[in-house]
Amino acid sequence: MNVNRFYLFTVLLLTLSISGCTSHITITGKNLENTEKKYKNVIVMVPDGCSMSIQTLARLYKGADINLDKLLTGSVRTYSANSVITDSAAAATAFATGHKTTSGFIGVAPRAKDLLPWVTPEVPPYYPIPTILEGAKLSGRSTGVVVTSTIPHATPSGFAAHSSSRFMPDDIMEQMVHQNLDVAFGGGMVHLLPEGESFKTDDGKSWKGTRKDTENLMNTLKEMGYSIISSKDELAEVKGKKVWGLFNGTDLVPDIDRDELNPTQPSLAEMTKKAIEILTTNEKGFLMVVEGSQVDYAGHAHDPAYMVTEFLAFDEAVGVAVDFAKTNNDTIVVIFPDHDTGGLSIGNNSEMGRKYGNTTVDTLITPLKKATTTIQGLLELAYQDNTSTTEEIKGLFKDKWNLDLTEVQAEEILKFKKFPYGVADYISNNFTVIGWTTGGHSGVDVPLWVYTPYDYTPLRGNINNTDIPINLAKMMDIDLRMIGDELFVDAQSVFPDSKITEDKTGRIFETGKFKIPVNKNIVMNGDKITSTKGVSVFISEINKFFIPKEMVRVIEGKK
Ligand SMILES: [Zn+2]
Repeated sequence: MNVNRFYLFTVLLLTLSISGCTSHITITGKNLENTEKKYKNVIVMVPDGCSMSIQTLARLYKGADINLDKLLTGSVRTYSANSVITDSAAAATAFATGHKTTSGFIGVAPRAKDLLPWVTPEVPPYYPIPTILEGAKLSGRSTGVVVTSTIPHATPSGFAAHSSSRFMPDDIMEQMVHQNLDVAFGGGMVHLLPEGESFKTDDGKSWKGTRKDTENLMNTLKEMGYSIISSKDELAEVKGKKVWGLFNGTDLVPDIDRDELNPTQPSLAEMTKKAIEILTTNEKGFLMVVEGSQVDYAGHAHDPAYMVTEFLAFDEAVGVAVDFAKTNNDTIVVIFPDHDTGGLSIGNNSEMGRKYGNTTVDTLITPLKKATTTIQGLLELAYQDNTSTTEEIKGLFKDKWNLDLTEVQAEEILKFKKFPYGVADYISNNFTVIGWTTGGHSGVDVPLWVYTPYDYTPLRGNINNTDIPINLAKMMDIDLRMIGDELFVDAQSVFPDSKITEDKTGRIFETGKFKIPVNKNIVMNGDKITSTKGVSVFISEINKFFIPKEMVRVIEGKK
């Protein structure tokens, strides 16, 4: 990005906002106390979609303190540039880049038309903004993402992609492939393969490609020297410094369902452990993002047993990360949800809930402990068996949830059979004291947990999600503004005689004999292909093609 333009835009907006500002909400952030401490390794961990209530529930469910109990340092404001209740894309962008953006945007600045009154963007609308993962990469560190969703889902892509829509997983996957991540573990194999091709697993599953651009990114990864693995056994055995592990076509199965539905998938803790093993082979350190993606799915689904087991699986991964951090003085582990989902509460409006003064641990926990599947998983079994009578429903709930339904209850549940959310609400309201307030996200502040070898961390108190990357960048000695200048040059302004063409693989920037395909890290000159750090990005709303400075140098013959 052009520094002068960046600066002028900031001054203009600050002037506007000072003259028109009536808000008294402080923007915590750049004035957080600085730290002298520098870290070689940074581990960012996100239990997607939860708040403090799940920490309480998880502790009671486990019957012991959880790993996170020892790490609480503060709370985090989560709003996006245009909404008090954020979505995951804007949240991820905020804590990956230090910039608030519009809900749905990944790694680009917010649109101007609907900003919250106290949000003051520092970058022109829709311009790509650098992430701490990209900064870590340019600093020579290794980088990795470990998730239980698909790899191009909101949180991981917020660190490694730039798109004005989170709902373009094939484009986002292409950028993530070309970002040269050292480790990518999760689900989403379908986004690597073109339509018409599929990946066959050793145990006979077939994952069908969804890419409409005809590109086979699995071949690309192999050409780039990656090992590609797809099962827990392969994860245990894999050697090498660059590994993509995609353990399902789409999302991984919920932790509670794994043994029954897909035992070849690894747990989040197992993936985290292996990722650390690979990333620590780089003496310059690493940045790793770990997400317990499905805590959020469980909150959307109003499924308390699913949510608490996903959160505990995440907490186990936290244990792995903190155990590693304790072996050295160079690692900080920063943990926070991106937002709350579902508005889980301990206490509801059921008859049991109204007698809250006598709530025993058994009242709260026993119904959840009885569940051996998610409600979605239980209903999948019902579909498979074509369950259609109240007797069959009673049998299924007795078998999987150890619940004794009455005839009336079984009839109610049958009505919801194709609607897991309805079944889940019914179960929560009638058999538990768990309450829910929304099928979407909620706008509350979320907890902040930090492990550092030092007594003090500036990441404490009530901070903004944008404070996190700004401070982590300082701790890694990274200048995010310089990274932005290095990675996102407005290509048409540098090469005025250029044009943007398009073929079935997507848009192509052309100048002279050079071609740069979108979402990739390569410059083509006839048969000669030069790889660079950073990827090309096209933003249709502003009709601009951004390329790393290194690509400019290739075209100008300086590299
Ligand atoms: Zn989320």
